[in-house]
Amino acid sequence: MKNVFWCAKCFNMSTRPRIEFDAQRVCNACRWAEEKKRFDWGARQKELTVLLDRYRRHDGRYDVLVPVSGGKDGSYVAYQLKHVHGMTPLCVTIRTPLEFQLSNENLHAFVNSGYDHIHISLDCEIMRQANRIGFIEHGRPLFGWTAAILAAVIRTSVLHDIAPIFYGEDGEVEYGGSTETRNTAAFSVDYIKRIYLSGEYKSTFDQLPQSRIRQWMFPTDEELARTGVFKTHWSYFEPWDSYRNYLAAKRHCGLKEHEESNLGTFTNFAQNDSAMYALHTYLMYLKFGFGRATQDSNIEIRRGALTREQAKPLVLLYDNQPPYQFMERYLAYFQMTQEEFDTTLDRHVNRELFEKRDGRWEPLYQVE
Ligand SMILES: [Zn+2]
Repeated sequence: MKNVFWCAKCFNMSTRPRIEFDAQRVCNACRWAEEKKRFDWGARQKELTVLLDRYRRHDGRYDVLVPVSGGKDGSYVAYQLKHVHGMTPLCVTIRTPLEFQLSNENLHAFVNSGYDHIHISLDCEIMRQANRIGFIEHGRPLFGWTAAILAAVIRTSVLHDIAPIFYGEDGEVEYGGSTETRNTAAFSVDYIKRIYLSGEYKSTFDQLPQSRIRQWMFPTDEELARTGVFKTHWSYFEPWDSYRNYLAAKRHCGLKEHEESNLGTFTNFAQNDSAMYALHTYLMYLKFGFGRATQDSNIEIRRGALTREQAKPLVLLYDNQPPYQFMERYLAYFQMTQEEFDTTLDRHVNRELFEKRDGRWEPLYQVE
């Protein structure tokens, strides 16, 4: 196996797209986690105050748009904007495929804790087709939904003339990846297409009926300029801590977690929206060699809740968990036979990292 290695501090793998390691083999997410502790957050808080004052409306009109799911992060950001900074947020949710009952309950609890909210249910047939193409061609079964939480949310900002949009964390900076947006608050549509949609946006939506995909299309430069759309991440302004968000959302927004840990991991409070997420992370595992438990472990290690030694058995135990329990729902959603589904999965497996033994993909590497 060529040049596969792990971060000396967490379990980020060298296979992760866009990640960087330093000479000590520490990943850029761990370096950023250290830097966060001594970073001049005061300057960023000032930047936030200036920004919010520029957009604040005093006549009851919405002045900030917050994408939420009813989960911990969006709820935390909405709470901060409304109750700490005195803004008038409009919250927006794009309905996920294969949503859990708990996700709906959490969203209702969030709305009932005092937020104006719109729930957008997009053409479910187009959503299915976009996710299906994403699954088949890119190994990304939530591709259509990911495009929608970007494009349709930005369209909502234009429609309601609300310039700033606050997403939660900048995943590239927080979890290891591109550092392009580390020192700038705003990110562009071009960045979204290149990084979040891996350059696969156009080729995916070119295959769908053009008259039905308008909500997945980004507004034109002219439309963006007219509203002055400003897309940013809350994590730029304040040290991001998803566990703190979880506790705050529980306390203020009625958030509940799953009773048992989620499939493929040991946590029960993150990414609780959709049964599709387990397939998304299993494919991530087959493509790159790290799964949902690695992802969660890294966060826990960086915030000091687990040591690398404590996390290792969790990674070994949980990462390789195919989401069999949701199989009937996947097959019905993608309108596939089991054979077609298996062939699709197999096509995305990194054969340098895995081999099939007794019908199951097993790693050829040992996590170090
Ligand atoms: Zn690391």
